[in-house]
Amino acid sequence: MSVAERAATLRREIPAGVTLVAVSKTHPAGAIREAYAAGLRDFGENYAQEWREKADALADLADLRWHFIGGLQTNKVKYLAGRVAAIHTLDRPELAREVSRRFHAKGATARVYLEVNTGGEATKSGCAPADAPALAEAARALPALELAGVMGIPPPGEDPRPHFRMLRALRDRLGLAGLSIGMSADWRVAIEEGSTCVRIGTAIFGAR
Ligand SMILES: *Cc1c(COP(=O)(O)O)cnc(C)c1O
Repeated sequence: MSVAERAATLRREIPAGVTLVAVSKTHPAGAIREAYAAGLRDFGENYAQEWREKADALADLADLRWHFIGGLQTNKVKYLAGRVAAIHTLDRPELAREVSRRFHAKGATARVYLEVNTGGEATKSGCAPADAPALAEAARALPALELAGVMGIPPPGEDPRPHFRMLRALRDRLGLAGLSIGMSADWRVAIEEGSTCVRIGTAIFGAR
């Protein structure tokens, strides 16, 4: 199957209310154009430099929406300001402050998801579940942030469902609407558990 066929099939299978973010990291701008031509509009990238090059190459696609889904260094935030529809990886107060400051300077608002590390994996970004309420409070106090919801990635090799349930419960406790969960291997389970936004790479663009 081509990228366009896989994109169209997924779009049909995923409920209309769930945002499908096509994760295009490591794939060329041409592959994004193919998925765009098949009707997708939301694209996710992980690395600021790689994203900038593709965003420039695809600037003619005016209604394409970028989602930043990678670990974010504060010194890269300035490149994203006013140019991305959402950041899914807000995991610390300093980053929240920098995102607000840089977006505010551009007269923009940043839609952000709190990334929560439910697996306690030291190698993964994301705040500890216990730190999420304070991070949400810090984000809510900032002028240019719109708190969209909670995002998470279950540890590889584990049943994703308990992690999705923890993320959903946390989302509810924080009074938020968005739940950014589900990737190529587990998006069906994520939707059963209330996902509002799936982030799918391999199942659209093939192996990386
Ligand atoms: C790469 C990535 C995805 C997509 O993963 P696939 O398994 O290829 O669907 C989703 N979310 C994040 C944060 C990623 O880094």
